[in-house]
Amino acid sequence: MPLAVTHVLLTIIIVDLYRDYVAKHKRYFTLHTIFIAGFAGLLPDIDIPLDWILNILGAGILHRTVTHTPIFGLAFLAPAFAFWLYKKHRIAVYFFVTTFGVLLHILLDFLFTSDNSGLMFLYPFSNAMFDMDLLSSLAKPQIAAGIDAIILLLWLWHEEIRHKISDFI
Ligand SMILES: [Zn+2]
Repeated sequence: MPLAVTHVLLTIIIVDLYRDYVAKHKRYFTLHTIFIAGFAGLLPDIDIPLDWILNILGAGILHRTVTHTPIFGLAFLAPAFAFWLYKKHRIAVYFFVTTFGVLLHILLDFLFTSDNSGLMFLYPFSNAMFDMDLLSSLAKPQIAAGIDAIILLLWLWHEEIRHKISDFI
C-alpha cells in the first residue's frame, strides 16, 4: 500500500513535470493547480476518515470501494469539459488534474496494495477485488519509506538543476 506521502508526492511531481516540459503553460497550470493535484492524489483515501464519521452515525463506507473506482475519477471530467467549453480554462484544468490524481492513486493502490484487501474497481456492481501486490516479497514499510525518500530527493535535484539553468536564461 503506497503511503499517503507517495500518493501526494508522485501526483505533484508528475503534474509539475507536465507543466514544465509539456504544457509550458503557467497561466493554466498555477501553483493552485499543483496543490489541487496533490490533494486529488490522496482524495480516494477520504473513505477512511469518512468511515470514522459515518461510524458515529451507525453507518459506514468500505475502504477502497466507491472512491477507488475509475468512475469516481472520470466523474471529474464532466465539470472539466464544461468549464473548458465556457473558456474557464484554469478552473477546467483544476478538474483535469483531479481526474489524473484520482486515477493515479487507484493505479498505485492496484499495483502495490499488499494487505490482501484489493480494490473494488467495479463497485457497486461487483465486489470483485483486484490487486497486483508487486512489492509483496520485500520488507514493505521500509521499502515504501525508502521509495518516498528517493522520489523526493530526485525531485529536489531536478528543481535545483532546473532553477540553476533558468538563472542563465
Ligand atoms: Zn487508496
